[in-house]
Amino acid sequence: MSRFDGRIAIVTGAASGIGKEIALRLAAEGGTPVIADLNLDAAKATAEEIKAKGGDAFAVAMNVTDEAEVEKGVADVVAKYGKVDILVSNAGIQIVKPLVDFPYADWKKLLSIHLDGAFLTTRACLKHMYAANYGRVVYMGSVHSKEASKLKAPYVTAKHGLIGLAKVLAKEGAEHNVTANVVCPGFVRTPLVDKQIPEQAKELGITEEQVVKNVMLKDTVDGQFTTTDDVADAVLYFAAAKSNVLTGQSLVVSHGWYMQ
Ligand code: NAD
Repeated sequence: MSRFDGRIAIVTGAASGIGKEIALRLAAEGGTPVIADLNLDAAKATAEEIKAKGGDAFAVAMNVTDEAEVEKGVADVVAKYGKVDILVSNAGIQIVKPLVDFPYADWKKLLSIHLDGAFLTTRACLKHMYAANYGRVVYMGSVHSKEASKLKAPYVTAKHGLIGLAKVLAKEGAEHNVTANVVCPGFVRTPLVDKQIPEQAKELGITEEQVVKNVMLKDTVDGQFTTTDDVADAVLYFAAAKSNVLTGQSLVVSHGWYMQ
């Protein structure tokens, strides 16, 4: 018996990076991940990769900021599998610019994907979780849920906000056996981070190597990147929690960057 046998898990942003690793790991432990992503072709490719390894997966087109698309995606999952046990709200983007001239449109876009997306997917799944008296919700936070960095005003704001959302859900969901927690990774080499290394180098007037060493990994205990596998370990730990003993919490996974 594997930890996630029979569990249906919607993972947003699962066509790439951290979300994809979480989906692969859930499938490897008996679960059925739903690859919910803006990029349907990449989502289908991830689902095929899982099926080729003998697992089950379902690809769904979902822009997490689109209320109708989120509702339809979750309804399609419930029509196919009868339930949603786990939500990993992971879809996210990064935009780095100084606060003094941060474009309002970029501010709104980033907050919408991280916060509206988390709210809309949570609300859509909760109805089914409450009906089944079971649910595990994990939000993808960041060390930036606890700490700030230059150039990341909306990202830091949104990631702090997810902790508030998780705490409310922990209280409201408790009587329905629904838990909510946040995983807070340090820097992980994914497309999201690879894109921002040259951008930060340009904004800060330093080399890309200096961005990695002196900005991204500066406060780790050993100068190491966190891996997608490390993050998936923490997400699966929360997703497998047996009771409300583990709810309303946030766990930093970062090689020691930001010690609580
Ligand atoms: P990534 O760019 O590799 O993957 C993000 C995925 O989200 C992509 O598949 C993309 O298509 C999808 N996506 C983007 N906008 C979407 C939308 N509106 N609706 C649905 N899907 C959408 O990024 P990643 O590094 O794997 O990041 C995943 C999460 O982890 C994000 O929330 C990010 O903030 C967080 N995070 C990343 C790091 C890191 O260092 N990579 C560190 C801490 C937290």
